[in-house]
Amino acid sequence: MAAQEWSPSSWREKPIAQDVIYEDKAHLDKVLTKLRRLPPLVSPVEIDRLRSQLADVATGKAFLLQGGDCAELFDDCSSDPIEHKLSLILLMSLIILHGSRLPVVRIARIAGQYAKPRSKPTEMVDFEIPNGPVGEDGVQKTKIEKREILSFRGDNVNGYDKEERNPDPERLLGAYFHSTATLNYIRTLLLSGFADLHKPLDWSFSHVRSPEIHKAFSAVIESLQDSLDFMKVATGAVGGGERGGMETVDLFTSHEALLLEYEEALTRSDQGSTSRSFSPSTSRGSTPAVSRSVSQVRISSESTYPHSPVRPSKSGSLHNSFSDIRLETKKTKEKWYNTSAHFIWIGDRTRQLDGAHVEYFRGIANPIGIKTGPSMKPEEIVRLLDIVNPDRIPGKVTLIGRYGADKVDQFLPAHIDAVKATDHVVVWQCDAMHGNTKSSQTDPSLKTRHFVDVITEITKSMAIHREKGTILGGVHLELTGEVNEEGYSVTECIGGSMELEDKDLSFNYRTHCDPRLNFEQGLDVAFLLADHLRS
Ligand code: PEP
Ligand code: MN
Repeated sequence: MAAQEWSPSSWREKPIAQDVIYEDKAHLDKVLTKLRRLPPLVSPVEIDRLRSQLADVATGKAFLLQGGDCAELFDDCSSDPIEHKLSLILLMSLIILHGSRLPVVRIARIAGQYAKPRSKPTEMVDFEIPNGPVGEDGVQKTKIEKREILSFRGDNVNGYDKEERNPDPERLLGAYFHSTATLNYIRTLLLSGFADLHKPLDWSFSHVRSPEIHKAFSAVIESLQDSLDFMKVATGAVGGGERGGMETVDLFTSHEALLLEYEEALTRSDQGSTSRSFSPSTSRGSTPAVSRSVSQVRISSESTYPHSPVRPSKSGSLHNSFSDIRLETKKTKEKWYNTSAHFIWIGDRTRQLDGAHVEYFRGIANPIGIKTGPSMKPEEIVRLLDIVNPDRIPGKVTLIGRYGADKVDQFLPAHIDAVKATDHVVVWQCDAMHGNTKSSQTDPSLKTRHFVDVITEITKSMAIHREKGTILGGVHLELTGEVNEEGYSVTECIGGSMELEDKDLSFNYRTHCDPRLNFEQGLDVAFLLADHLRS
């Protein structure tokens, strides 16, 4: 059966999970109209570059490090938190690069990771109600009443404060502008030499108190400065000569594409038209725009295609470059890019085969991720891959496994077998966080994760892939380099070289969503990865 016509809005015809209901539809439409006019955050050229780097990851020629917050907050959009997050990813990538001698592809969960899927749409919270007589102190007596309110869905939907839980469309614009400001600061930092590999010790490393980490990292730096071998690999990883060598690195952005209205508004055609040019179908159920192939005039020379080999002509000689250049009219298929981030992924709760999210994802040219966990059937993965990557583009799809340290043995092998039996070339990535969430024993209201579970899931995944003859191409982690005013890292996960204990969690527990590895725990993971990839 032929696939139905796709358009940036064709998802509106499908059932949608984790939907957000806005009361004021006219306000939503106004916001979406504005979003469609705003410029893209990232370009197709950058997106294509990431896709080709991920093809290298899929074939074991590079390693993928993806990490960042579970949910960014608009308040995180400030220079210090951004610098701290960037430093941690850069340091980790350097450690992994040094240990593995593999180029590292860096993708941050940043500049757009605002929306959150929730297991329950509502929650019960305490409200203080003034209901009693005024006491001698002049203060009215109050009582605590439990009320059901909407769950916090992320800063681009509603506010964490219990008074701000109604979805507000204006927050979608807030998401765009906070993403833009964050991305702008990242680009500024990178262009100003923040990632210069000659001075990695400046990357906010001074607050790390662990002498072991200092020692291990100093050894990396010494070796970095000495090792020509390392320099060569690094130069390849950072784009090399064209950009002056070691002064900067590629860093790509990513988020879970949960709010499809927002993603649709930032979906742009490579043929120059923006989503503005198709019918302004901002309400669900309206006619989807028709995707079209357009005639395009271009100058072509076989030898000028960046990746195509120079082919001999019929007479056996190589084409003369001038005689081969000709004007040609060729039909090229229109490509649509999600320009809100380089890489977007489908969450574990929104990957229904016939659902709206899969429909949206199947039409975009970006590299994409799909979360896979214990509830995913092996045959379902194959059907998903066929739907979202019909052209079998290598590295287009990253399968982000999030099984849990105690379940990965049970589920990953069958998933690998199912994909191996197809002609899909995927990136296998281990999300070592989402199958390993537990409640704190000292304060059950706090969620935590044990460092040992994170490491166990990664090392088990590597071993399973080795046995199957496939490659674990990368990791996906929730982490942050953020520190408090006194310079202490967050305390949300247990263990690691800092030996954080359950009772330490409340010391600097800051997340409103899932617990993140802190700066030191992030470096611990990087050193362990470097060791495993070397062996
Ligand atoms: C996440 O990555 O923050 C998330 C919600 O993951 P999952 O969809 O795997 O539960
Ligand atoms: Mn999370």
